[in-house]
Order: sequence, then C-alpha cells, then structure tokens
Amino acid sequence: MPHCSRIVALLIDYVEDRLPGERRRELERHLAGCGSCAAALNTYRSTLSLLGSLSEDDLPDELRTRLRAFLDRESAN
Ligand SMILES: [Zn+2]
Repeated sequence: MPHCSRIVALLIDYVEDRLPGERRRELERHLAGCGSCAAALNTYRSTLSLLGSLSEDDLPDELRTRLRAFLDRESAN
C-alpha cells in the first residue's frame, strides 16, 4: 500500500484526470480504505471549485489559513 504522502502528491493529477490507468486504480484502492486521503481529496476538490472562480487573494482568511495548514501537514507527513 503506497504511503499517504505519495497519494496526496498524486491527487492533483487524479482530479485533473492525468493519471495512467494503473496509478489511478492504485490511488482509488487506497482512497477506498483510507479516510484521511479521501478527506484530502474532498478538500482538494472543493478548493479547486472555489479557485475556479476566485483568485487566491479572494479567499477568506480563515479558508486560506486552513488550506495552508492542511498542505503543510500533508507535506510533512
Ligand atoms: Zn492514505
């Protein structure tokens, strides 16, 4: 089973549908059994849909702080 930090690094490609099939299946298997990565995916998706219409400067401070803390925590994993 791949390490969570590797999964999180792949989420951007997964969301943008750029992963080759084997990796995609590996990631989906991991997501099915890992609540924290599934939550990271949900956070990432909702962040992306926000960013689709807003620039980062338009994000509420609280969201920006939480997003940054989330990304710091994940990359320190
Ligand atoms: Zn995980």
